[in-house]
Amino acid sequence: MSEQGYEIDFLPVGSGERSGDAIAVRYGVPGSYKVMVYDGGTKESGQALVNHIKKHYQTNRVDYVVNSHPDADHASGLSVVLEQLEVGQLWMHRPWNHSQKILDYFKDGRITDESLAERLKTKMTAAHALEELATKKGIPIFEPFRGASIGDFVVLSPEQNWYVHTLLPEFEKSPEQKKQATDAALGLMLKAFAEAAGKAVSMIAEHWGIETLREDVETSAENESSVILFGQIGGRGILLTGDAGIRALNAIATYAESKGVSLPASLHFVQVPHHGSRHNVSTSVLDRIIGPRKATNDGIVAKTAFVSAGKGSSTHPRKAVVNAFIRRGAVVVPTQGEAKCLPHNMPNRGWGPAIGLTFSNEVEPWD
Ligand SMILES: [Zn+2]
Repeated sequence: MSEQGYEIDFLPVGSGERSGDAIAVRYGVPGSYKVMVYDGGTKESGQALVNHIKKHYQTNRVDYVVNSHPDADHASGLSVVLEQLEVGQLWMHRPWNHSQKILDYFKDGRITDESLAERLKTKMTAAHALEELATKKGIPIFEPFRGASIGDFVVLSPEQNWYVHTLLPEFEKSPEQKKQATDAALGLMLKAFAEAAGKAVSMIAEHWGIETLREDVETSAENESSVILFGQIGGRGILLTGDAGIRALNAIATYAESKGVSLPASLHFVQVPHHGSRHNVSTSVLDRIIGPRKATNDGIVAKTAFVSAGKGSSTHPRKAVVNAFIRRGAVVVPTQGEAKCLPHNMPNRGWGPAIGLTFSNEVEPWD
């Protein structure tokens, strides 16, 4: 039997500051490949995924569809995949099914199980529509919590109790909590606003030996709830991260270590989380997941990192984030309007090797 191969395809989603993920993975041995779709982006990129799978994988079947988290820029396109292709399993969180477990956390004592479930459904339209479509078509739905297997991949995050009791009550779509983390949420909003408004900023210097990422940054609870998948295909580690942030990434490092797996030693491919935002990674968490920084820029590449970023985006991916991955021996490949493919031990389809971004000696300032 021949060794397993894989191809990881990132399709472009959006342009400018609008981005999302639309990712197809095919793996296995000739004659018995498996196909997984991890997020579908917008309706438009969902259609592109369908066309891509038919053309390059020459099949109408997707074994596993995974929705990383309910945000529309990740979930919408998956409905197109479910409509047009034969789907074996759908893996997605169904936050509304956990509503009765979290009622106690909210200020408003009148909230009931049903009203909270309704609220979550109407505020997460794309994900709820996906669930309804799968139900209508008789496609089995499973919730991706830590330890579950999806084909040759295993879910590293979120752990179920953390998802239900910590993240879900923090969702922007949930009602106000008794002890609210409003300040943090407001801070994030103001930061995003300032960044959108202040385009004309002067750059700051960064060197090989100096990383300007911050340790105290945070992303939304919705993003932190992203399904993080790890697979080892043909002995090569693959990590899909969605929009996960520092909390989830530290949790998977601890979990992997507890299972005796060194992520830095096994990873060959990694998805740069959240389109290359600098609010999702820190120096310490990247050291744990990707590996330590190299002393010099020796040009030796041991890993590939793909990042879904809109064409012409000024904020995705951040140069400081790209630098951080390059410092740890990765080539960083952005979509920026084009499909990018990483093949290993698969039939040649005439695509050239993906070109990586170069190290920047100037990065965007923080304030
Ligand atoms: Zn996103």
